[in-house]
Amino acid sequence: MNLGAYARLDALPRERLGFLPTPLVEAPQLARSIGLPQLWIKHDELIGFGFGGNKVRGLELLMANARAQGADVIVTGAGAQSNHVRATAAAAAHAGMEAVAAYWGEAPEQAQGNLRLTRLLGAQTRFTNNADRAQVDAAIAGIANELRAAGRRPYAIPRGGACALGVLGHVLAARELHRQCAANQLRPGTIVLAVGSGATLAGWLLGSALLGAEWRIEGVTVSRPANEVRARVRTLAAEAAALLGVPAVIAESDVVVHEGHIGAGYGVPTEAGDAAIVLAARAQGVFFDPTYTGKALAGLIALAGEGRYAERGPLVFLHTGGEPALFAQGARVSMSAP
Ligand SMILES: *Cc1c(COP(=O)(O)O)cnc(C)c1O
Repeated sequence: MNLGAYARLDALPRERLGFLPTPLVEAPQLARSIGLPQLWIKHDELIGFGFGGNKVRGLELLMANARAQGADVIVTGAGAQSNHVRATAAAAAHAGMEAVAAYWGEAPEQAQGNLRLTRLLGAQTRFTNNADRAQVDAAIAGIANELRAAGRRPYAIPRGGACALGVLGHVLAARELHRQCAANQLRPGTIVLAVGSGATLAGWLLGSALLGAEWRIEGVTVSRPANEVRARVRTLAAEAAALLGVPAVIAESDVVVHEGHIGAGYGVPTEAGDAAIVLAARAQGVFFDPTYTGKALAGLIALAGEGRYAERGPLVFLHTGGEPALFAQGARVSMSAP
């Protein structure tokens, strides 16, 4: 166990946003429905700040850094239903700062779900009118420059909070779960999570390596091809390791990412994802979301059906949040009785 690295991490300034640790709760009916011997859910959607989710963890370090740099406005971006932008807008308001968001595509006629919350939080929302998601990166930089020229002190956060400091929030999450498991005498064989930008998976892999944890971590990609994810995760983990002064310990081959569950595209619901959402709600009373956790659960259901986890001990599903998307048009989860 590399406690030196964690000691350095603990010494970094953090803005306390989440109520930690998030709950670790067994989900026996869902386990039975899926055919898993034991399933636990690590409830980061219940992190207790700004409608929750994994992004809050990275923001604790990023917002402290913004404060240290004297920032007065946070600039970030993604798609209109971004959980990351919504959580960032809440963190900015909480810190007494402003927020500006760059979104790909065109402004929807009605602000629903996360976009509605982001505007409620007072963030300025700007649309690129370009469907290319990568254009958002240039828009973030452009808005930051514009604000600087106007005498403001902007702090830019990349899409998903996918940067070394953001990754460190998830390195802390790995230790949090490790401690909870020790306290519960639980020895998970596998941790499963949804993967978008890869920051969360990078942090969990790095943290688990530093802890010497015995569990395996498996991602289900909901956005990019698995090959691209593996390379990104490796780079992000290496950058985060460098901040802690430890060698880059994650090889691309250590990054397990399952694909085949994206469907028509990022943020577009799938039938299997919707069915997984309905199953989790009715079997266990837990809400999953159509963009990330529902598709990841659909992936888990498919993999469990192949017998992949039969001999691997308890499984922990990391619930990364995202439920506000259930309140947006386009989330077409059937509400009808079975
Ligand atoms: C962003 C997000 C993820 C994926 O996290 P990354 O660090 O971008 O891979 C998973 N679930 C939810 C609900 C998210 O908002």
